[in-house]
Amino acid sequence: MKTDVQIAQEAKMQHIGDVASKVGLKLEDLELYGNHKAKIHLDVMDRLEKEEDGKLILVTAINPTAAGEGKTTTNVGLSMALNKIGKRTFTALREPSLGPCFGVKGGAAGGGYSQVVPMDDINLHFTGDIHAVTTANNLLAALIDNHLHQGNPLNIDPKRIVWRRAIDMNDRALRSITVGLGPKGNGVVRQDGFDIAVASEIMAILCLATSMSDLKERLNKMIIGYTYDKKPVTAGELEATGSLALLLKDAIMPNLVQTLENTPALIHGGPFANIAHGCNSVVATKMALKLGDYVVTEAGFGADLGAEKFFNIKCRAASLKPSAVVVVATVRALKNHGGVAKADLGKENMKALADGFENLEKQIENVRKFGVPAVVAINAFPTDTKEELTYVEKRCNELGVDVALSEVWAKGGEGGIALAEKVVELAESGKAEFKVLYDLELSAKEKIEKICKEIYGADGVDFTTKALNDIKKYENDGIGSLPICMAKTQYSLSDNPKLLGRPKGFKITISEVKASAGAGFLVAMTGAIMRMPGLPRVPAATKMDILKSGEIIGLF
Ligand code: ADP
Ligand code: MG
Repeated sequence: MKTDVQIAQEAKMQHIGDVASKVGLKLEDLELYGNHKAKIHLDVMDRLEKEEDGKLILVTAINPTAAGEGKTTTNVGLSMALNKIGKRTFTALREPSLGPCFGVKGGAAGGGYSQVVPMDDINLHFTGDIHAVTTANNLLAALIDNHLHQGNPLNIDPKRIVWRRAIDMNDRALRSITVGLGPKGNGVVRQDGFDIAVASEIMAILCLATSMSDLKERLNKMIIGYTYDKKPVTAGELEATGSLALLLKDAIMPNLVQTLENTPALIHGGPFANIAHGCNSVVATKMALKLGDYVVTEAGFGADLGAEKFFNIKCRAASLKPSAVVVVATVRALKNHGGVAKADLGKENMKALADGFENLEKQIENVRKFGVPAVVAINAFPTDTKEELTYVEKRCNELGVDVALSEVWAKGGEGGIALAEKVVELAESGKAEFKVLYDLELSAKEKIEKICKEIYGADGVDFTTKALNDIKKYENDGIGSLPICMAKTQYSLSDNPKLLGRPKGFKITISEVKASAGAGFLVAMTGAIMRMPGLPRVPAATKMDILKSGEIIGLF
């Protein structure tokens, strides 16, 4: 079997102008980045205003193992399969972050014969959007420290600055740093730290903004810290909004690329799903809905994190109405949930599969809470046995949920026809009656409790004193009614990554609540979750190379 990067490098890509013209875009709608990538001007939306929206399909999953269970792969494969059966379909994905790329995952452009290309570019610097987000984030950080140095007219308390620096790298050494060391000219000494750029509020804003003016309004509202008398200070008060927007002027435009089968893909925005809201941009999703009959989009990690935030944050904010949900499950991960160690996941184990199935069962229940019909996609791995695959299908049938075997990794769009047909059946049945899980009128505490109890299956929630004080502060500042962005481990339904399957009898601990007033949500931090990941013992980076021939090794 060829590696992902080998398959991607052999792809017969079309000129991106040809991919665009197939969906009714003109050359002047595009900003070309070479032959195979283009940004699309936002004013295309004015021309398309009267077009009917296509159907929105969400791809989510069970709680994954560290390698990922194939949501992106399924997303790309399903979109190619839908195109094969005559539905003009877009894939709409997030941009990969360099952190996981060089850490565990080695890339995030799909896998096998279901990838988006040029996969090396997409996984590396792409069109520079993450660079723009990082730079905007760090410009604001520099403006804050300069403000302190220049006499601090806004009376900002250096101990209450909440804006942190950002870099798109897994770098644990930067979690907590001291800035301003040295002579007086180096500024005010204070504790600071870095978050991974894809967890930054600016990335969330880029993904939720509906236009340049909306982007600016959101940037203006970002809280950077508090004064000595505890009043919030915003980016607007630092007069930063204009320059930040300027840095983001190209980043706000969706990126057009193609799948291995030359179908269109919009890859735009990249918030993490365990520490941010985990969905691609609203502008890309809306544009794809205008241009296509179907749009297949992924929300990061399991349905407890990605789908919950996709529905409660993104769909609510952008008035999106999804028509169907695909829940990706793998026999391997289900066995892992049933207690099998990673090294043994390739061996048949019917008992562990039966035990681990409860994780899928809970995630199906979770999706159903939002009123959108679901189909389970069993992402077939070469190591799965016939008996194992049949067993998962049987259990899904017993639950009354549709199920299809997906072989898109091995066969491309052809391997996803059965899934595509099920998706069309559900989407066109008109069964979807999308609803959010909670009303914004509930208090922040009540919202968090509802998510933890109903989606995670927790008995209750423990709020630390810090978390309670945070919530009180936001309520006083008038932002207490924002939706909640949960920051939680992706591996478990609980806040403990070791509790696999469908844990029972646990409570969730909320250690702190952060405000993203510009993005428009409150981030509830659970367990030991951090906004700056670290690298593993053997980083994927150590296996990567570029040869004399230009051949790339180690991206997958
Ligand atoms: P997710 O989006 O859920 O994190 P990805 O689609 O990125 O998962 O897949 C994670 C990794 O698993 C990729 O390297 C991909 O090539 C590999 N993979 C996905 N599906 C399969 C499959 N059916 N068989 C073998 N490898 C797969
Ligand atoms: Mg993915």
